[in-house]
Amino acid sequence: MTERLSAPLVVKIGGGDGLDLDRICDDLAEISSRGTRLVVVHGGSAETNRVAEQLGHPPEFVTSVSGFTSRRTDRRTLEIFQMVYCGQVNKGLVERLQQRGVNALGLSGLDGRLWEGPRKAAIRIVKDGRRMVLRDDYTGKVERVNLKLLRDLLDSGYLPVIAPPAISYEGEAINVDGDRAAARTAAALAADTLVILSNVPGLLEDFPDESSLISSIPSNRVAEFIDVAQDRMKKKVLGAQEALSGGVRRVVLADGRVERPIQRALEGRGTVIGD
Ligand code: ADP
Repeated sequence: MTERLSAPLVVKIGGGDGLDLDRICDDLAEISSRGTRLVVVHGGSAETNRVAEQLGHPPEFVTSVSGFTSRRTDRRTLEIFQMVYCGQVNKGLVERLQQRGVNALGLSGLDGRLWEGPRKAAIRIVKDGRRMVLRDDYTGKVERVNLKLLRDLLDSGYLPVIAPPAISYEGEAINVDGDRAAARTAAALAADTLVILSNVPGLLEDFPDESSLISSIPSNRVAEFIDVAQDRMKKKVLGAQEALSGGVRRVVLADGRVERPIQRALEGRGTVIGD
C-alpha cells in the first residue's frame, strides 16, 4: 500500500479540564513526522460552560429518556458554542500544531458540509422525574461525512482539525456529540484506530477510582459497558460501538493528561475496545 493510501489515525481531544494540549500536540507532531496521516476532532465543553456563565447565559444540560446527557442548545447557546469550539479551542490547537511544524487546518463540521445530518425535530427528556419535549433545540447527529473534502486535505498534506457544530440537511448549524462525530469520521475514513482522549485514564468500573480501569472490552460486549459509564462517558462507549460497527478495528479511550498520550494509547494503555 502506498503512503498516500494509508489509513489515517483519528484522534478525538476531549473538552474537559485537565487535558494537556501541549503534550497532545507534541505527540501529534511526532506521529505526523513519521508519515502517519492524522485527523483531529475536538471538544470544548468546559470552556463553553465558563464563557456561557460569563456572558450571562449559563449552561443547561438535559437527560434524554434513554439516559444520555446533552447540552441544551438554544440559538444563543449555539452562538456561544461556536465562539468557543470554532474560535478559541480550534485555533488554539491549530496554533500549537503550526508552532510544531505541522500544517494544521482548522474547520468545523459546517464548512464544506463536512459533517451532515438531521436536526432533531423534538427531544424527549426527563426533568425532575417528568417527561418533556423540547422543540427549539439545535442538536442533531452526523450521518454523512464529506470524505472527498477530508481526502483532498490529507492528500494536500494538511492535518484537519475539526470542531462541532455539524450542518443539518436544511443548512442549519447543529450541536453534535464530538465522540460520535469522531466515530463517524473514523469509519468514513476506514481508520484502523480511533483514540479518544479525556481527563480520565479510560472507562472506570468504579468512577472516580482511577485504579478501577477497565483495560479491554471485546467488540461483542460493548453494549453491556454503556451502563457502566455515567453522563458523558456513556457517549464515548456508544461512539466506540458505532466506530466498530462502521469497520474501525479498535477504539482506545485514553488519558489526555500525560506525556505521549496518543502513543501510549496506541500501545494499549487505556480502555481498548474491539480488536
Ligand atoms: P470530553 O473529554 O469529551 O469533554 P467529558 O469530560 O465530558 O468528555 O467525559 C469524560 C468524563 O466522564 C470524565 O471526566 C468523568 O467525569 C465522566 N465519567 C462518568 N462515568 C465514568 C466512568 N465510568 N469512567 C470514566 N469516566 C466517567
